[in-house]
Amino acid sequence: MSFESLNLHPAILRALTEAGYNTPTPIQAQAIPEVLKGHDLMASAQTGTGKTAAFTLPALNLLATPHPAKSRGPRILVLTPTRELAAQVNDAARKYGKFLRARTVSIVGGMPYPLQNKLLSQPIDILVATPGRLLDHMERGRIDMSRLQMLILDEADRMLDMGFMPDIERISAALPGERQTLMFSATFEGQIANIAKTLLNNPKVIQIAAQKEKHANIEQKLLFVDDMAHKNKLLEHLLIAPEVNQAIVFTSTKRHADLLAEDLYAAGHKSAALHGDMTQGARNRTLTKLRHGDVRVLVATDVAARGIDVHGITHVINYDLPKFAEDYVHRIGRTGRAGNTGVALSFASHIDRHQLRKIEQYTGQRLEISVIEGLEPKRPAPRTDRSDRPRNGRPGQRPGGNGGGYKSRGQGYAGNRDNNGSRPEGRTFGDRAASGRGDSARGNAPRGGDKFGANKRHDGDRPARRPRTFA
Ligand code: AMP
Repeated sequence: MSFESLNLHPAILRALTEAGYNTPTPIQAQAIPEVLKGHDLMASAQTGTGKTAAFTLPALNLLATPHPAKSRGPRILVLTPTRELAAQVNDAARKYGKFLRARTVSIVGGMPYPLQNKLLSQPIDILVATPGRLLDHMERGRIDMSRLQMLILDEADRMLDMGFMPDIERISAALPGERQTLMFSATFEGQIANIAKTLLNNPKVIQIAAQKEKHANIEQKLLFVDDMAHKNKLLEHLLIAPEVNQAIVFTSTKRHADLLAEDLYAAGHKSAALHGDMTQGARNRTLTKLRHGDVRVLVATDVAARGIDVHGITHVINYDLPKFAEDYVHRIGRTGRAGNTGVALSFASHIDRHQLRKIEQYTGQRLEISVIEGLEPKRPAPRTDRSDRPRNGRPGQRPGGNGGGYKSRGQGYAGNRDNNGSRPEGRTFGDRAASGRGDSARGNAPRGGDKFGANKRHDGDRPARRPRTFA
């Protein structure tokens, strides 16, 4: 199938050619015709599948026909859970809408009001926003929604998790009833299905792939750890591997993200933190550095990292397991973008077993246990609840050496321990001298308040539970 056969406007086709896209992805091939026919849509598709273009392209097609009303308000509204995702959608709309001269505006928390007021006073075709700040402007009467023809909810499951649904219901109630609504979500199980019923009108349902078929291009591994010192040694070992081009390391708290980024920096890595307590300007600067390769290791929390689309990211490391199983999928989706392959490594201790089970149930995939030679856990990985995992080797066998220095459990899992079962002493970050390179990616401060923004109120980052990364 080609984009030409989808009946998109020639100006959009031209932008797609310029972007180098030849063939629609499965979600695009299925969603675009339904949206062009005017149907509401309920689509479950992962990030990385091309879902942004799946809704942006048919939405842009609307703009090819001028609106009869003379007002200046947006014709298309896209709601996203995070500022980063809003920025990504905004960039995509600009790229694909370039030859239609589509006027796109992004309104998110953490940005100054006077600037946003100015943006909102100009004619707008596409408005991309996080719900909290948008509602704030709507309540102040700064947005005319009378021309609105299409509402798009991107990552609706995430917006539900983050507590945005009351805001979204209020926004939706203030929009014209005669409109098309598209809802994209990683899942439509549970409460999100009921919300879809209230917001969508007889929607077409598209499910792109069964959970277990997803992320075939991402090698997923599980590393059992004894304690934080063990995690740090493993992390250091992994990050110096030559096959790591760029990595995102996920922590469960903002404070820990800061501390770990600082420690990695002190150990000579081009590292930076990204989390919801940083001002939008600081977050944008960090993301720009990541895109340009000036940051090699990004230490992030879930919300802040959602939607990052940087092709150089070869590795995702779950230093802490995510609180929600869906976040695991979002995290690993930061690698293996646009047809590349990627590696996702998760650290887990014995107390994380319940969380691991939830992740595996959600993805429908077993995480393969790996060990790094010389950095094996003192306590063997649990076998009981993982007994259906296929074993592919005998204890005591020599490691297979599968790139990155890690190997599957069963390939020498027991045989690489020393006689008393302890790990050889590994180096910690603090053992390395700071590189002193001037190209450091640090300097995200100052941190600022975000009185109305989504990520301040609802960003899902847990409060710090550890004062300091390294003893
Ligand atoms: P998304 O799932 O929207 O985050 O998109 C994932 C990546 O795929 C982005 O880098 C897009 O630029 C890219 N992409 C989207 N559609 C296509 C396509 N039809 N052909 C090639 N790349 C695409």
